[in-house]
Amino acid sequence: MLLGIDFDNTIVCYDGIFHRIALEQDLIPKGLATSKDAVRNYLRDDGREDEWTKMQGLVYGSKMDSCMPYPGVLDFFHFCKETEIPLFIISHKTRHPFMGEKYDLHKAAYSWLENQRFHDSENGGIERNRVFFETTKEQKIERIRTCGCTHFIDDLPEFLLRPNFPGNVSRWLFDPAKNYQGINKLRRFESWQDILSEVS
Ligand SMILES: [Mg+2]
Repeated sequence: MLLGIDFDNTIVCYDGIFHRIALEQDLIPKGLATSKDAVRNYLRDDGREDEWTKMQGLVYGSKMDSCMPYPGVLDFFHFCKETEIPLFIISHKTRHPFMGEKYDLHKAAYSWLENQRFHDSENGGIERNRVFFETTKEQKIERIRTCGCTHFIDDLPEFLLRPNFPGNVSRWLFDPAKNYQGINKLRRFESWQDILSEVS
């Protein structure tokens, strides 16, 4: 088994942070649900997609320190290190946001991994050269191929179901918000504890 793992919304949990910033900027009503999807859908439906895009740049660029890993993900990494299951982090991330201030999004993501102790041998234990931020989805797919992943874990079914996704790689959907309960083309997991049970 050789596992590839997506980064945003698979390792990093952004629930709460988008809601907080949107409230601070007076973009959403107070009673809105706190998930990232709820904030995005509200702004989209309200014709304010640009505000959403700018907010993503802000969160991914300068507010990463307020974001936590999903519960259990560090334990999962640690387990894989102990049992010698090779892991790669393979993500699609542009270098700079599409709009707004020109943060270095790759640098922010690398720092976050350091600060959350993903590279410490007593914590996540993943080597720094096993982390890839690719600037297009095509390159992300190519990286999954060249790393030789046997399994890939991602929060987006539309990515896993792309026609050129390598057919010999098992596709695991990380779905903590239970948005895709009816999906039958992908193996679906609701928590990192469930994924840990699957591999142990
Ligand atoms: Mg993702």
